[in-house]
Amino acid sequence: FPPELIRNFSIIAHIDHGKSTLADRLLEETGVLTGKNNRSQFLDKLKVEQERGITVKAQTCAMFYTTDDGKTYLLNLIDTPGHVDFNYEVSRSLAACSSVLLLVDSSQGVQAQTLANYYLAIEQDLTIIPIMTKIDQQSSQPDVISAQMEQLLGVENKDILPISAKTGINCDQVIPRIIENGSKPSGLVEAPLKALLFDSWYDEYFGVICMVYVVDGQLKIGQTLISAYTKKAYEILQVGIMHPEQVVTNALFTGQVGYIVCNMRTAAEARVGDTLYRKDQPIDKPLPGFKPAKPMVFAGVFPLDSENDFDKLKDTIEKLCLTDSSVHITRENSGALGMGFRCGFLGLLHMDVFKQRLEQEFGTETIITTPTVVYKVAYADGKEKLVENPNEFPDSFMTRKNGLSANDAVAVYEPIVVATIVCPEKYFLSVINLCNERRGEQKDIVNIDEDRVSIHYIMPLNEIIHDFFDRLKSLTQGYATLDYEESGYQQTEMVKLNVMINKESVDALSFIVPKDQSQFKAREIVEKLRKQISRQMYEVSIQCAVGVKVIASETLKAFRKDVTAKCYGGDITRKRKLLDKQKEGKKKMKQIGSVHIPQEAFLSVFKVD
Ligand code: GDP
Ligand code: MG
Repeated sequence: FPPELIRNFSIIAHIDHGKSTLADRLLEETGVLTGKNNRSQFLDKLKVEQERGITVKAQTCAMFYTTDDGKTYLLNLIDTPGHVDFNYEVSRSLAACSSVLLLVDSSQGVQAQTLANYYLAIEQDLTIIPIMTKIDQQSSQPDVISAQMEQLLGVENKDILPISAKTGINCDQVIPRIIENGSKPSGLVEAPLKALLFDSWYDEYFGVICMVYVVDGQLKIGQTLISAYTKKAYEILQVGIMHPEQVVTNALFTGQVGYIVCNMRTAAEARVGDTLYRKDQPIDKPLPGFKPAKPMVFAGVFPLDSENDFDKLKDTIEKLCLTDSSVHITRENSGALGMGFRCGFLGLLHMDVFKQRLEQEFGTETIITTPTVVYKVAYADGKEKLVENPNEFPDSFMTRKNGLSANDAVAVYEPIVVATIVCPEKYFLSVINLCNERRGEQKDIVNIDEDRVSIHYIMPLNEIIHDFFDRLKSLTQGYATLDYEESGYQQTEMVKLNVMINKESVDALSFIVPKDQSQFKAREIVEKLRKQISRQMYEVSIQCAVGVKVIASETLKAFRKDVTAKCYGGDITRKRKLLDKQKEGKKKMKQIGSVHIPQEAFLSVFKVD
């Protein structure tokens, strides 16, 4: 296929605007999905994705289409995730495309992620093919929505294609639009090979599979490739396209997208954004890579039963990381929870998805600690340190100017984001209030149309990761949409709260809060723990402190819970059953010193309400 006959495109949209449904349509139309293997939402492969109806990992699929004048085109659909946490995945998928289908739901209109994805596409200079979806809906407002698209997305009314992926209206015009209006790949056929590695995963049978986009030159089985990043050499063992599963082609030409299997041993070697070139055809400079995925939210992951389950958890996490290289993993040792891992995620949804996979696909029960952002702490000697674990956060900050020793902490900075919220005007005030409550600073407000506004706020990421999205949704009856983009660091006043049970500090429960909320938060934690820790055989004190200063405390009186008391007489079996039950209950507890803490107690502290 010469580049003129290749179109690499992606579909971008706000979540639920019909991307997966349209993708299925296109695959059906080009015969990739036939009656037999027709599984709805083909591209959403992972179990979690199917359950949640979201795409986490991008999938790619080749299609062939013959036009009326008899030319056969190769179209590569490169799927992208639709959630803010995965913007990183979106931009790397877009790097293999020349065009995008930009979908807007004909009753929902332009939403926060429509805008975010639109900007990502514009930044990469892609041709935009505007499509208005779900026009079969009663609530469609095609005129209003196309006016919005014209105004906000810089498209012309005549170019907007109204479709329904559900009933099929106009779906047959989508591919002709891509062929006609979409750009062809712009690489050089005669130049030395440059292939962009844009995705990879681990296959039990083949090992590491890399998705590549052949920018210049051609790629063939048997060639020896060099990674521009590691300079390691690899021999290509298999080459092909995804159609929809792996189909061997033995070569990929300029502009094509496909997979390669080479002798890479670990997924870590397949560095997304890397350039591969031929050993016998050196290149002067690699393709522009991507910014590596930066974990924004960290949490500890521990096995419930630290003595017996650590190895199992380790295997499980290692396996998961083979399919999701954006999770950042280090060992963590907690006094309270034993050995575990510190995991960095792109965002809260990413963390949720990871947790769900951990439980579902491998059946390991785990404790995940309160998520935290990465703070930057400045010391008296001018050094700075990134802190992703509350336990490494200083107990106090020095305000004096003189007589400081080098490792006295003097200031803390927290990550901030620019949040874009789109909502109906009538919820405007509630949204503003929520943002202000969460230490936000208003940037600007734009009217999208008569009854919708787009609000920009500068906010600490810490506030966003704690329940912000759910609050926003409930305040606006589900109408508000959110997107955010990281925007550096800002000085702030935060303190670490230490939780102590019977004077013993429980490291896994410590967390970082704004200084002026410390009293309130401390009270809240202590209350929650009091409710959750069932009365023990001894008196239990629960305290919350900043440094060594206790700012909230509670005491639980001693109590002996005798579950067999009710079974007078000689009913031994019943007694035994009850005792067994109690034993089982104990298993779900974590022992801190002499105190048993039920798992719910941890979870309750980790939940904001
Ligand atoms: P995605 O999140 O963008 O991938 O959206 P989906 O393709 O999963 O669609 C979200 C929901 O909208 C699903 O319940 C679809 O059945 C529905 N949907 C998709 N396209 C249409 C359409 O053209 N008309 C109607 N009425 N519903 C649609
Ligand atoms: Mg989808």
